[in-house]
Amino acid sequence: MFSLKTTPCTQLFSKEFTQYGVTVWIKREDLNQPHIQGNKWHKLKLNIEAALRQGKTTLLTFGGAYSNHIAATAAAAQLAELKSIGIIRGQELTGAPEKWSHTLKAAEQKGMQFEFISRSHYRNKTCPDFLQALQKSYPDAYIIPEGGSNTLAVKGFESLMPEIEEQCPDWTHLFTAVGTGGTLAGLVSYAQQQDGRHIVGVPVLKKGEYLLPQIKNWIGYRPTNEWYLLTEYHTGGYAKTTPKLRQRMQQFEQNFEIDLDPIYTAKMVNAFYDQLEKKLIPVGSKIILLHTGGLQGRQPN
Ligand SMILES: *Cc1c(COP(=O)(O)O)cnc(C)c1O
Repeated sequence: MFSLKTTPCTQLFSKEFTQYGVTVWIKREDLNQPHIQGNKWHKLKLNIEAALRQGKTTLLTFGGAYSNHIAATAAAAQLAELKSIGIIRGQELTGAPEKWSHTLKAAEQKGMQFEFISRSHYRNKTCPDFLQALQKSYPDAYIIPEGGSNTLAVKGFESLMPEIEEQCPDWTHLFTAVGTGGTLAGLVSYAQQQDGRHIVGVPVLKKGEYLLPQIKNWIGYRPTNEWYLLTEYHTGGYAKTTPKLRQRMQQFEQNFEIDLDPIYTAKMVNAFYDQLEKKLIPVGSKIILLHTGGLQGRQPN
């Protein structure tokens, strides 16, 4: 179940790219696994193996009502024949399935059970005491943090980077959307060292700088390529959008016939175009846009 097919790394052609003197590819991780999809699959796979090795019967994790990670965990648990529990932010959703998002409905159909908790209670999600109590209530559960990011999630990208290096060996820029930074840390950790390379993270939340210490912690002391965050492309916050962002998303989807999701990949693509148009990407650059999936988030509501 953990074998992954190699996804395409497709060159995108447009007059604009020629005009700015760059070549652009998109690595289609949205196509890696039909139900789990994208970076979430890489982040979950080693965690599931660990859960099975430890004899756990359940995956337990945290998220908001629109979380791709909740959707992915429900799907992955079903595939691994494990139970799943989602601790969901928003007490008002208890016993009110008519208020549930598409994400929650789909996760429930895949067998996930929910525990809805208040926003203030939810803030404890990383507190050791809270987690210990939770583990006591669910002794057979393997607990995965919000967004799925932990050391094993970062290690999940060990298999992806060599694929990219083979498909597009002389890339100079790799763009990815950033939520928790686990994916970025994984890419940075397993990319080959080469001068002139940049791994560019686009946080979808405001004030993305707060992620830096955590990302550095995951990357550890490994020698790294140059990497940085572009923190100005959140368009107002997590699920916030702007007319400009919507327009870029639509245009990209029409030009290349590739769907994006409004929360992550659209912001990554928008950041790339903005950097290009401001001439911050040098002529001759070879850019990879990482499609991290998340297409379940396109569903209305
Ligand atoms: C979750 C998600 C991300 C962010 O991943 P992190 O590892 O949390 O930074 C990026 N893109 C998509 C489509 C996602 O669902």
